[in-house]
Amino acid sequence: MKNIAILGSTGSIGTQTLEIVRDNSDLKVVGLCAGHNTDMLEKQVREFLPKIAVMGDEGAAADLKERIKDLPVKVLSGMEGMIELAEMSESDMLLTAIVGMIGIRPTIAAIKAGKDIALANKETLVCAGHIIMPLAKEHNVGIYPVDSEHSAIFQSLHGEDPRRVTKILLTASGGPFRGMSREQLVGKTKYDALKHPNWNMGQKITIDSATLVNKGLEVMEAGWLFNVPRTKVEVVIHPQSIIHSMVEYEDGGIMAQLGMPDMKLPIQYAIFFPDRRPLAGKKVDFFELKSISFERPDIETFEGLKMAYEAMDKGGSMPTVFNAANEKAVALFLHDRIHFLDIYDIIRDAMDAHTLIDNPSVEEILDTEKAVYERIASVRGDI
Ligand code: NDP
Repeated sequence: MKNIAILGSTGSIGTQTLEIVRDNSDLKVVGLCAGHNTDMLEKQVREFLPKIAVMGDEGAAADLKERIKDLPVKVLSGMEGMIELAEMSESDMLLTAIVGMIGIRPTIAAIKAGKDIALANKETLVCAGHIIMPLAKEHNVGIYPVDSEHSAIFQSLHGEDPRRVTKILLTASGGPFRGMSREQLVGKTKYDALKHPNWNMGQKITIDSATLVNKGLEVMEAGWLFNVPRTKVEVVIHPQSIIHSMVEYEDGGIMAQLGMPDMKLPIQYAIFFPDRRPLAGKKVDFFELKSISFERPDIETFEGLKMAYEAMDKGGSMPTVFNAANEKAVALFLHDRIHFLDIYDIIRDAMDAHTLIDNPSVEEILDTEKAVYERIASVRGDI
């Protein structure tokens, strides 16, 4: 029996993880956590009967506690609750599928408590990879990628000598606006940006796919997970999202992982590694697919990737600034407060204004996030 705790159980990754739990009787959920969605968390608690249930929001936690007072489930709230869930003695693995930098502290707590990590929350490694990766090594815990591209790379590296890697080819669908010019992006609404051609994901990551910020975050995540410089990670636009990423070796051989765009495969692989479990659903039919194609990313139009490269090259606290400015800009965009292209301007302004901190501590990362939020709020208003 494998026991898992899930941060972000009501979200896109969280709910797909619970589908996997339903299909695998040797997997048990011991902890669940959401932000505000009490209705869904109550349903999940009643079905999976975890030891602990956490709501990010204090009021929502009080509501949940009242609703499930008939059950022997401990209800907690906020960061303290998330940390208790991350460390709980009953769990073997923490699946972190929360959005944003709020995932950093619980991930650190889980590693210190010796829990393996199934990592969807890429913001954690982007901002604190220099803290997380050595800590995981020190505590001998595995960090198993859930992101489909990183899972593909992980699978393509399995059994190979990492010293023989010459290049990581990180694929990208290009999002809903692929091939458009800057002029065509003017006036794009959240409804346009939320129409991802291949993947059905949470709102924040879907907007990040449209700006190519997501691909920038993924290049940074790959750097930390696989210990490669960004010059060895090449982004390849592959609109069909069938090849989930590839690894090129010294002899020119390329290993790739292919499959239908279904996040359950990488989630399941992260949980059961090195085992592979059956997974229902459509499989790739090459005769139906007929052809697949590749393009170079247009980083002049989709500046998200270009600015991510710049943040990576500067290092230290700059990826945090890039990520925090993007988080706030996306929230403003989703509230119809700014235009699509303003997302890039907000990130650019935050990066230009920042004084770099080398090797930032967790406190410095969180202070940097706060300063970026305050700067944006002072110009654009808060939400
Ligand atoms: P969603 O927006 O669908 O879900 C986010 C989850 O986090 C929800 O359960 C939400 O709860 C919870 N949450 C948000 N804020 C808080 C808070 N303050 N305290 C506690 N819980 C909170 O996101 P996704 O599932 O799409 O993405 C999750 C992470 O996985 C992101 O980092 C994303 O980049 C990454 N990822 C996602 C992929 C996907 O296919 N969706 C693919 C690869 C990576 P509530 O419902 O109550 O708001």
